[in-house]
Amino acid sequence: MTTAPLTFDPRKIPDLSRTKLVATVGPASREPQMLLRLMAAGVDVFRINMAHGSRKEHDSVLKAIRQAAREFGRPVGVLIDLAGPKIRLGNLLAEPLELQVGELVTLTRNADPQSPTELTSNYEPMLDELQVGHEIVLADGAARLRVVMVTAESATCEVIEPGSLRSRQGINLPDTNLSISALTERDLENALWAASTDIDFVSISFVRNAEEIHQLKTLLSSAGSEARVIAKIEKREALENLQAIVQATDGVMVARGDLGVEIELEKTPLVQKRIIRLCQDLGKPVIVATQMLESMHHSKQPTRAEVSDVANAILDGADACMLSGETAIGSYPEAAVRMMKRIMHETESLLRNRASRGHHQTADQKICMQEAMLLGAAQVARHIDARLLVLVTEHSTTALLKSKQRDFVTTVCLTDDQKAAQRMSLYWGVVPVMIDSLRTYCRLPKSIADWAKEHLGLLPSQRLVFVLDTADFPDVLDTIAIAEIS
Ligand code: PEP
Repeated sequence: MTTAPLTFDPRKIPDLSRTKLVATVGPASREPQMLLRLMAAGVDVFRINMAHGSRKEHDSVLKAIRQAAREFGRPVGVLIDLAGPKIRLGNLLAEPLELQVGELVTLTRNADPQSPTELTSNYEPMLDELQVGHEIVLADGAARLRVVMVTAESATCEVIEPGSLRSRQGINLPDTNLSISALTERDLENALWAASTDIDFVSISFVRNAEEIHQLKTLLSSAGSEARVIAKIEKREALENLQAIVQATDGVMVARGDLGVEIELEKTPLVQKRIIRLCQDLGKPVIVATQMLESMHHSKQPTRAEVSDVANAILDGADACMLSGETAIGSYPEAAVRMMKRIMHETESLLRNRASRGHHQTADQKICMQEAMLLGAAQVARHIDARLLVLVTEHSTTALLKSKQRDFVTTVCLTDDQKAAQRMSLYWGVVPVMIDSLRTYCRLPKSIADWAKEHLGLLPSQRLVFVLDTADFPDVLDTIAIAEIS
């Protein structure tokens, strides 16, 4: 049993890791006490995977997270992960079906298979879209087929990699242009449900182009939601349209599970680096996901290779790393979170010596000015050896600009907007803190200094730099100031 404190101690703020941690909630983690323990261990954002469970379950998990965050006293983000058009095998006549190289199997339109080597699927147009020569990847790469003949009623396929199949396992069609939208009917219903709640992020699976991002954004905003959209990059077509997708989206997830099936597995490390670099250039947060501490499903310790994988994602420049089954159904959810945080802390020591980033690519003059102000404030903080940079803002966008500059000046974002605080929980290197009213504190350096002394444990003669977000306070001239604790 853990001895960790179960309430948030703001005096610990300077010790928090810069890289954020996203944890998937499932049967192993959805009880209120476990949610509290995971927050104490370092979870910043909880992910609810809509591929599993009922609306009633999702609703009660969301309420449990919000309640736990209130008890814990720290803003926590919630990501609703839409399942997207996951193509699956239908029922097999007999299972497991052992496929041998060179053997022929048939994909049919039939609802039920008529022989043991006849395969069905939940994707009705598949036979209209498959072409001779296309590859079909089954069960996350457990077996591979190549299409040798297509008719109106069936596709004959040769087994090119042997494997064992079971009913309803996944099908990936890396060579095939699918007509189905990344947002299925079920995703649209789930997105509307998400919009009716106070959700912070909604992710879109199997996205292929920027249009699909715009569609989800429009749906969310017309339903009155401020939720930000995260594009899960897991298809070859998404890589072809990467620049436009990253420009259109609010954030990205490198979804290595399906990505590693849709493209050659050996290409995923370089693709991960390419996606992260583009997100840095365009100022978008990026989450690296899947199998990060996979062996911790059943083991208290990760493998050496998994530890290196997390560390390398951080060194690549990921804003956040994600745990999936490790926290959703694993035997050691809390140990997995603690381990990931330890790797983050240790690895970040190398990043401290790297130069911070300047401006990202934008033509927006207002953003340029805000960036310049934030760069200046960090420079001042370093110059006077300030303990903290306090950014007073109602907008998570300014916090994101600060985050993307990647300096190690400890940054606390004070806000009185709960939703903005929850969104900031995903952003690298910024600690969101809720206060009752921004305007009570904002105008005087002295009042900020008193607040930091009382709430963050700053000591007399320690200094802080504070920045007022000019978007919120256009009438205030002194947007950067230094305060000393008295
Ligand atoms: C992935 O494919 O890596 C992923 C994160 O998506 P899911 O867990 O929904 O398969």
